[in-house]
Amino acid sequence: MRPHPDFGIYLHIPFCEKKCVYCDFYSLENMDHKDVFVTLLIEEIIAIAKKYSPDVRPATSVFFGGGTPSLLSPVQISTIMETLHDQLPIHPDAEITMECNPGTISIESLRGYKNAGINRLSFGIQSFNQEELDFLQRIHSPEEGKEAVRIARAAGFDNVNIDIIFALPNQTIESWRSTLEQAIALNTEHISAYSLIFEEKTPLFAMLQKGLVKPQDEERDAELYALTIDELSKAGFVQYEVSNFAKPGFACTHNRTYWQAKEYLAFGPSAHGFVNGARYWNYRNLKRYFEAVRVHGTGEASREVLTDHNYLYESAFLAIRSEGLSKRRFLADFGIDIQAVLIDHLDADILAEFLQVVELQEDTIISLNASGFAICDEISIRIIGILEEVLGSEWDAKGYEEDDDSIIDLPILQEKTR
Ligand code: SF4
Repeated sequence: MRPHPDFGIYLHIPFCEKKCVYCDFYSLENMDHKDVFVTLLIEEIIAIAKKYSPDVRPATSVFFGGGTPSLLSPVQISTIMETLHDQLPIHPDAEITMECNPGTISIESLRGYKNAGINRLSFGIQSFNQEELDFLQRIHSPEEGKEAVRIARAAGFDNVNIDIIFALPNQTIESWRSTLEQAIALNTEHISAYSLIFEEKTPLFAMLQKGLVKPQDEERDAELYALTIDELSKAGFVQYEVSNFAKPGFACTHNRTYWQAKEYLAFGPSAHGFVNGARYWNYRNLKRYFEAVRVHGTGEASREVLTDHNYLYESAFLAIRSEGLSKRRFLADFGIDIQAVLIDHLDADILAEFLQVVELQEDTIISLNASGFAICDEISIRIIGILEEVLGSEWDAKGYEEDDDSIIDLPILQEKTR
C-alpha cells in the first residue's frame, strides 16, 4: 500500500464522570485506575513506537478522545505529550486536539493543557436547552457550555470546536434553531452537528425498545439537517463532511486523516489504528487492555489486512461523505479515472442534482452538494456498487502488492457520533 505522507495519532482516554444516555464509546465512571492507565498508556506508546519506527512519518495530528480526556490532569497530559515527542516524530505544526466536557474544566486546567502542547479544544456541548441536556444526562448546563468556550479563549486557544446534536426525541424546530443560533454566537472555528443515533447497547436504545422514547421521523430529521446546513453556511462555515462544518482554514486535520483513509496509530482501550495496510484495534475492556500491555507491550486485540479492493472501496466511501473524490488521487493510488467511471455509470439525474464537479488547477473533485449530503448513505452505497460492477474481481491496484496469506474482508467503516 502506498504510504501517505500524513499520519495521525489517536489516544483513547476511557473515563467519564457520568455516562450519557446515548453514548456507545468505551468509558468507565470508576476512575480508580486512572494513574495505572496513564502508566500503561505510556508503555504502549513506547512499544508501538518501537514496532512501527521504520514506517512512521511525522504525525500531522494528535487527538485525545474518549471518554473524557479533560478528566486527566495537565500533569498527566503533559507526561503523555512528552512521551509522544520522545518516541515518535511529531510535525512542528501538528494539530493537537483534546476533547473536553464543559463540566470538567477550569481556566487553570485549560492553561495547563495549553502548556502541555494542546492547541485545539473540542467541547461536547450538545445542546443549549436544559431539558435536552437533562434528557441526554449531560453533567453541564447550557451556561457552562458557553462558559467553557469563553474560558478556552481566555486560556489562549484560537482553535475550538463544539459538538451539538439534533433530532432528539420531542425536539422542536424552534429549539434546534435556538441551539444553532447560540452555537454560532460563540464564534468558534468549527462546529460538529450530529443527528442522534440510537446505538445498540445504550440506555437510549433500551428506552426505544420499551417504547419510552420515539425517534424523530425521517421528514423532521431531514428538516432539522437542512436547517443546520443553511444556518451554518450563512454564518460562514464550510461543510466538509456530513456532520462537520469549519470556518475557512479550520477543517480538522485529524478528521481528514480518517476520511482520506490515511494512516494513524492508536493507543488506549477500544482505540482503532491503521498502519501498513492493516487495521488493528485494542481491547474494549480496561482490565484486558492492562493485561495485554503488561504482557505484550500493546493493547491490541485483533487486526485485519485490507485487500486492495477494500482499501479502494473504503477510500471512495469516506471521500464521498467528506471532501469528495479526487480524480488525481484515484488515478495515482488505484489507476482509476473515477470521474469517467461515474459519468459513464451514474444516473445523469443523480449527477446533476446531488453532486458537483469542481475543476482545480491540477485536480478535479467530485463531491456532494447540500442536497447530496442529505442522502449521502444512498449515494455512497450506489457509488460503491458501481465500482464493484465496473472493477469486478479481476482488478488489482497498481503500485502495491497484496499479501495473499493475510487478506480478510473488512466491512466499510461507519461513522459514529459522539
Ligand atoms: S458522550 Fe462523551 S461525556 Fe458522555 S459518556 Fe460518551 S464519551 Fe462520556
